[in-house]
Amino acid sequence: MLCYQHHTEMLLGLSNDLEEALPYACQEPGCLIRYDGPRGYFLDTKDTNIIGAEITPRVNCSNDGQRMYLTEVTPERRNFRLWKCPECDQSYMNDEDTSAGLGKKMGA
Ligand SMILES: [Zn+2]
Ligand SMILES: [Zn+2]
Repeated sequence: MLCYQHHTEMLLGLSNDLEEALPYACQEPGCLIRYDGPRGYFLDTKDTNIIGAEITPRVNCSNDGQRMYLTEVTPERRNFRLWKCPECDQSYMNDEDTSAGLGKKMGA
């Protein structure tokens, strides 16, 4: 499971309280990106300014609608993303340039 911003491995948070399930957390200092099963990626902050400015990716599994997590990126292919479902292991490949505005096709 990778942080969608830093592409570094996310680790399960540590807690002394075993009753409390902590989300996966990015290891970059200051990174607010977290992941847990039902919610998918989210930001560990209550600051609505930060939440509003940040676009967290939402990739849903076509089988069961679970939020998928980023599992692989390829440095040579900037837009390549491999997503995986935490429930059924289905993967989804995103290899398109989705940046807005550029190379827009004319509609029919
Ligand atoms: Zn990060
Ligand atoms: Zn699934």
